[in-house]
Amino acid sequence: MQKRTVRDLHKDEVEGKRALVRVDFNVPLDANGEITDDTRIRAALPTIRLLHDRGARPVVLSHLGRPRGKPDAKYSLRPVAERLGHLLHKKIIFVDSTDSEQALEASNALRDDEVLLLENTRFLPGEESNDPALSRSLARLGDLFVNDAFGAAHRAHASTAGVSEFLRPAVAGLLMERELDYLGRAIGNAERPFIAILGGSKISGKIDVIEQLLPKVDGMLVGGAMACTFYRAMGLETGKSLVEEEKVDLARELIEKWGVRLTLPHDATVAPSIEQVSAAHTVPRDSIPRDEAMLDIGPRTAESYSRAIASAKTILWNGPMGVFETPPFDAGTLAIAKAMAVATKKGAVTIVGGGDSAAAVAQAGLEDRMSHVSTGGGASLEFLEGKKLPGVEALDDGEAR
Ligand code: ADP
Ligand code: MG
Repeated sequence: MQKRTVRDLHKDEVEGKRALVRVDFNVPLDANGEITDDTRIRAALPTIRLLHDRGARPVVLSHLGRPRGKPDAKYSLRPVAERLGHLLHKKIIFVDSTDSEQALEASNALRDDEVLLLENTRFLPGEESNDPALSRSLARLGDLFVNDAFGAAHRAHASTAGVSEFLRPAVAGLLMERELDYLGRAIGNAERPFIAILGGSKISGKIDVIEQLLPKVDGMLVGGAMACTFYRAMGLETGKSLVEEEKVDLARELIEKWGVRLTLPHDATVAPSIEQVSAAHTVPRDSIPRDEAMLDIGPRTAESYSRAIASAKTILWNGPMGVFETPPFDAGTLAIAKAMAVATKKGAVTIVGGGDSAAAVAQAGLEDRMSHVSTGGGASLEFLEGKKLPGVEALDDGEAR
């Protein structure tokens, strides 16, 4: 079901109204409380700008960190208010409470072209328990609700889901719309050939994604430590590689059921340990030394995966191919990122999901060369597993477009 978006609002629903906007400003902070990456703030700007353009006054809510239901100065959104002002070139009014008379008054006093940012929603005990009393109270802060916090949409919290029971219209913001559009293609009607590249450290965290995607893809290419659990199922020596013993049977069943659709790396870059980078070398997959670990896919694999990417029309990537944090074990991941960038240019739809995968693409400087890099790690995984996201389900259904 398509959800109604901020673009679908009628003039009388938005002009002159207070728009309560839930965003994901959960930015990384360093020890001094400085924002080290403002990607998430930038990602919310188009929705805020659109609301301003349409005559609405945005009242913005977000969580930051895990303060566990009580105020904690180190998770204050105050530094975010400052950065938001710089990026938006608008006056930001920051109120250091969330569910308060002061916040309500500030929302009513807000002027055109200003933004009201309220304090961290997770300072409130009712946020994570999705307390209806809190939801009702938050609903007074706006005349309509816009959810642009895709990264928090898998949580049924008062400010992500509960509030929309008391405040209509309730629509998706532009970032949310974009996430649902691109990730939706992966589980809906992707243009074929459609391939998925799956990696990362563990099968256990990804098994539902694998099972959801296997019936839909033309091919699934596996990398990361997860490949080693499959190797074990094939009876290959995996040395000191990360293997999930309790998932070996499952890996065997997947191989038996899906056969050729499931591709495993032909070669591996191995070393005695992650620290011993100068000892890194490549071996065929049936020759992993007993006292070494697979830390990346090998160059032959990187090449054949890149060829597969080049021949596909839709490519979904989740999970690094190796320990990309430590060169040279980043080579396989980099090769995939580059092949995806080339494919995008040639007209393929390229989608990256997962926190570490997104970090790897950013590290390669190729973010802008993907069709879409998801901003939601956990939320994108749950979406790809086919789960309903509470923060999405709660929104108004849209007219078929
Ligand atoms: P994402 O966040 O994109 O979903 P994951 O969290 O599943 O990805 O996996 C990322 C982690 O997997 C990285 O920290 C990376 O170092 C690790 N990893 C990938 N390949 C291997 C490997 N061969 N051995 C050990 N760790 C690996
Ligand atoms: Mg991760």
